[in-house]
Amino acid sequence: MSEVKEQIQQYKILISACLLGERVRYDGKINKLNHKLIDSWLAQGWLLSSCPEVCGGLATPRPAAEIQQDGLIKTQYGEDVTDAFKKGAEHTLALALKFNIKVAILTEKSPSCGSSQIYNGRFERSLIDGQGLTTQLLRAHGIQVFNQFELDKVQAFIANMGK
Ligand code: SF4
Repeated sequence: MSEVKEQIQQYKILISACLLGERVRYDGKINKLNHKLIDSWLAQGWLLSSCPEVCGGLATPRPAAEIQQDGLIKTQYGEDVTDAFKKGAEHTLALALKFNIKVAILTEKSPSCGSSQIYNGRFERSLIDGQGLTTQLLRAHGIQVFNQFELDKVQAFIANMGK
């Protein structure tokens, strides 16, 4: 078995690329999640990163975007970027299915990756209960999605997978 194949088979957790410190955020900033569990999972080769918005063809940096009340996703300048967000969500789902990944750690509040809260669509920095487009799609396909503050839940989920 090749080294590459062994590596692929180790993937257990999909993770938002920005949490690993990749420069993919809309504002171009680095926002790496520093945590011993992340370090451990990285060392074991369990983490597979994806940035749905970059996968959907959007540039970094890019204008802030929020999910509107009608479900469309628009930038702060009114440009409709729904198709790019959908494309990125589908790409990320395909990646998870390809590697039989059952759990994801995605960045809270993002219109792609948020899993319990997102912005209200009026660019007021005001949060509402809701989920990003990629999170919705992953959950619709049975993948458990947690945010970056729920690593203990991810650890418990992984432990249960082996039983
Ligand atoms: S789309 Fe997700 S992975 Fe990409 S920058 Fe936004 S929160 Fe991070």
